[in-house]
Amino acid sequence: MYSQSGIKDYESGKSKIEARIGILLMEIDRWMEMLLQNWWFTTLIGTKRPIQPPLRGEIKRDILIVGGGAAGLAAAARLAGSGKKVVLIEANICGGSSTGKSAGFLTPDSELELSQLVRRFGTQGAKDLWEVPVRGIQRMLNLIKSGGIDCDLQKQDSLFLGKGRGGMKAVKEEDASRKKLGYESQTYFGEDLTEVIGSRKYTAAVRYRDTYGIDALRYAQGVKGMLLDAGVEIYESTRALAFSGHTVRTHMGSVTADQIIFCADKLGPELNPYYWNVYHEQTFLSITEPLSMAEQNSMFPSEPFQCWDSDLIYSYYRLTGDKRLLLGGGSLMTTYARKDTTTSRVIDHVISGFRSAFPQLRSIRFIQFWMGRIDMTRDLLPTVLKEPDTPWVHRVLGCVGLPWATFCGDFVARQVMQDSKQEDDKYYRYFNVNRKFLIPIWLEKVIGKRFSFVINNAWAKYYQKDLTG
Ligand SMILES: Cc1cc2nc3c(=O)[nH]c(=O)nc-3n(C[C@H](O)[C@H](O)[C@H](O)COP(=O)(O)OP(=O)(O)OC[C@H]3O[C@@H](n4cnc5c(N)ncnc54)[C@H](O)[C@@H]3O)c2cc1C
Repeated sequence: MYSQSGIKDYESGKSKIEARIGILLMEIDRWMEMLLQNWWFTTLIGTKRPIQPPLRGEIKRDILIVGGGAAGLAAAARLAGSGKKVVLIEANICGGSSTGKSAGFLTPDSELELSQLVRRFGTQGAKDLWEVPVRGIQRMLNLIKSGGIDCDLQKQDSLFLGKGRGGMKAVKEEDASRKKLGYESQTYFGEDLTEVIGSRKYTAAVRYRDTYGIDALRYAQGVKGMLLDAGVEIYESTRALAFSGHTVRTHMGSVTADQIIFCADKLGPELNPYYWNVYHEQTFLSITEPLSMAEQNSMFPSEPFQCWDSDLIYSYYRLTGDKRLLLGGGSLMTTYARKDTTTSRVIDHVISGFRSAFPQLRSIRFIQFWMGRIDMTRDLLPTVLKEPDTPWVHRVLGCVGLPWATFCGDFVARQVMQDSKQEDDKYYRYFNVNRKFLIPIWLEKVIGKRFSFVINNAWAKYYQKDLTG
């Protein structure tokens, strides 16, 4: 088993030449620009399934889905084979926005930890809500397996890493909440911690199972392939521009449908009357060349985990199937920025934090970086609704996390199919668009949307108390 002293062994085990090469590479790394390109797009090059042509002309179908991210694809997958004529339009390529930029951690814990849900919703509420991403993950795995989707599926336990005393407290709270709700978990402190992570920066960790890593762009394109095979029509490069009654207009055509499901991100008021409900947070990712076996072992002495830490703007990392290190994070200044921040400054800072946590890995080379903005609501739970005056229009808004988006898309599709087995009221209640937030909308008009989201997010995450009673 690897130990704290193992970090030193690794360093002293390297020859002087290797050490010098390492330092030299580090220097070169400082001068060389990383390529600003989504790595998952790079992995798509050479895949067989062609991009679908845009919609041309006016068509009529039973069900229209707008948006081919995790949510829209899950909705389409549920409706495929229902006997209805289903069409999906996507402004980019399927997975081309948040989904295909994501780090592909499939864990129930995205922005909201279980202990935070327990504090906000009590034991039963937390359980109801935790089941959402758990079921989302299961649904994604089912699709991957049934469609034989080649998306670099990695089984990786989650490791939430505490920093300092606050981090240790957060780890203990998370572990206690998991046990209280009957979910398994394991904690690590002191010397035990060094058996699972090759860094001295952390004070505690909680580990849990049934979590995975994927290349979410290849997942999205794989689901697209399954849908096409099942007879769903898909038009990529097809942006919805206007909407009225049962008809959605695009650049070169229109779709008229009995039921319309909007699963699109960053929509303006012309397509989304609830646009005030959604803002976005920005996060950055980078990827390295493949790590050597010694580097992998020095980082993960027992087995590779998917990790994130307890910082307010946290860092997260995992290994891909070809043993590249995927590292993500952000900064306070850019998380709530209105537009993409395209310099490498933020990710440089994240990388330098990583290098100080893992000094033995200081010579690994980061080759590409990219960023993305994730739609979210004020309290970080999704909004799902059927419009009261036009009940054929369904909306999925502000899903933070692939599993949450998948569950919500699937949920709405089952609504459309009038599947009475699902517990509709419960989730419509949790995800109600009219739920209360700390900063009410009228005050937001004075202080601004961005600032109001910062406060509302922080309140929901750290202070909001049991809403059940
Ligand atoms: C850098 C980054 C890292 C992340 N890491 C993780 C992670 O590790 N794990 C995790 O669970 N989550 C992660 N997320 C969050 C996750 O990606 C999102 O929460 C999730 O993908 C949301 O899915 P969605 O289907 O709701 O939205 P999207 O994936 O944004 O899909 C919406 C789709 O609608 C399309 N669209 C928009 N407007 C129109 C229009 N007018 N007409 C037609 N189509 C339109 C878009 O092109 C897009 O494809 C990350 C996100 C980012 C950006």
